[in-house]
Amino acid sequence: MNTEELIAAWVRFTEDNDFVLNPDESHVSTVIDGLFANEKEYGLKLCPCRLRDGTRKLDLELICPCNFKTQDVWRDEGRCWCGLFIKRV
Ligand code: SF4
Repeated sequence: MNTEELIAAWVRFTEDNDFVLNPDESHVSTVIDGLFANEKEYGLKLCPCRLRDGTRKLDLELICPCNFKTQDVWRDEGRCWCGLFIKRV
């Protein structure tokens, strides 16, 4: 999957949800770079802004997009950890 396909998939993912892809393209590009680096190193598109502990269990929780709406940062700031997805206004 290339960058354009990934962005298109994320846009579809947001369509019927109360969040959108961050309109800051530079920010999204930085997150994508981190995801692809993790995929190259670990074989999975893991969140670039959270730390692995080397266990399969946590790796599965860190696959992007994660279950970010259960996290405090979503409730408090209306975004996922990385700010890839932000609350729809
Ligand atoms: S915090 Fe955001 S960028 Fe990180 S895995 Fe979750 S949805 Fe993806």
